[in-house]
Amino acid sequence: MKIAIIGGSTAGIAAGIRLSQDGHQVSLFERRSTKSAGGFGLLLTPSVLQGLTTLGLDVDGLGHPVGQFQIQNEKGHSILCRELRQTVGVERSALLNLLSSGLDPQIMNDEKTFSHFESTGNGLAKAAIFQDGSRVEADLFIGADGVRSQVRQDWIPGPALEPVKSVELVGVYRGEVPAELLGRALKIMPQESGLAIGMVPTSDRSVVWYIQCDPRRWPQSIADPAERARWIQGLGEQHPGPVAQILAGSDLRGVHLWRTTDRDLPATFHRGNVLLIGDAAHPLLTFTSQGTGSAIEDALAIGDLLDQHGTKAIQQETLHALLGEFGRLRKPILKARLQMGRRMQEQFLNRPSVRQQIVPICC
Ligand SMILES: Cc1cc2nc3c(=O)[nH]c(=O)nc-3n(C[C@H](O)[C@H](O)[C@H](O)COP(=O)(O)OP(=O)(O)OC[C@H]3O[C@@H](n4cnc5c(N)ncnc54)[C@H](O)[C@@H]3O)c2cc1C
Repeated sequence: MKIAIIGGSTAGIAAGIRLSQDGHQVSLFERRSTKSAGGFGLLLTPSVLQGLTTLGLDVDGLGHPVGQFQIQNEKGHSILCRELRQTVGVERSALLNLLSSGLDPQIMNDEKTFSHFESTGNGLAKAAIFQDGSRVEADLFIGADGVRSQVRQDWIPGPALEPVKSVELVGVYRGEVPAELLGRALKIMPQESGLAIGMVPTSDRSVVWYIQCDPRRWPQSIADPAERARWIQGLGEQHPGPVAQILAGSDLRGVHLWRTTDRDLPATFHRGNVLLIGDAAHPLLTFTSQGTGSAIEDALAIGDLLDQHGTKAIQQETLHALLGEFGRLRKPILKARLQMGRRMQEQFLNRPSVRQQIVPICC
């Protein structure tokens, strides 16, 4: 079957690997140049590592093992501690490099920005049209183009993105990793609500850190880069120990402002021969650490369903039933994660008691 995937990040590459392994004729279209993958870091849970292994990728040596997630108050006292099994901290670029290593480079087309679909007039997409005017026909189109998906916008719009309630400032520290962070992810939750500082080791010499904020209480978090950098520097000075070392050793001007996005699930993940996967189908709040894992699971799930029908083009009714089955399998899981993320965000913004915090990883 001829399959065009739009978006060449976690979901798109994972689907590209899985579906090409089955012998489908796959092509992938990414608006950026692959060399500028960007992004900072993630915690990969055992299920994500298992998914990567299922795709035939070697996860040995990927990232830094994280055996414990600890939440501390601003005095450095442990409030909550959870042991983690087979979890690693990894820079997003390392994950994307690993995924890309499993993909035939011939199928990746960079600097191709999807614009809209040309329709057959009977509910099916005939061709994807790109901003450069090019046109690609396929039997199945997969929209893996992230939170602000143009595929979704054009073909399956559904509920709009909700206003941002929390933001995350993300940076990377390179240098000697403080002893407190070897094998451990740490989150500091000061008394004030709506602020948390987290650190995840990603190698023996790097730590990805993030500051979660309620921008209504901490407008400095969304101020201009210079003011924001001064504010982060001040936070470092107020929090001795690893926070001070990590923030003092980081380029605070290069911090990434991440506006966490929320959106209800669409009524269905497909219409006609167009399927949404990954963040395009179901943006998850960053509190859950589940965006990457869910994207990889989606890729494996569509691969498993298509396996049942070999590699030839399949009848439209069969394809419709199969894509519907994808939604029936995936929706309950994703709905639960979406709700969990909202509960975690609510708790973060209006925390009744720090002891009731959910450790921000759902496995
Ligand atoms: C730059 C960046 C940095 C990130 N950093 C972090 C992080 O530090 N921590 C974390 O937990 N999560 C991060 N994420 C999110 C995380 O990677 C995703 O939630 C998760 O991996 C799901 O991946 P996805 O492939 O569905 O979506 P995404 O990773 O968002 O990928 C979507 C891809 O589609 C491409 N695209 C978008 N529009 C078009 C278009 N019109 N035509 C063609 N291509 C298009 C984008 O360039 C992107 O490569 C980041 C995402 C991005 C894009």
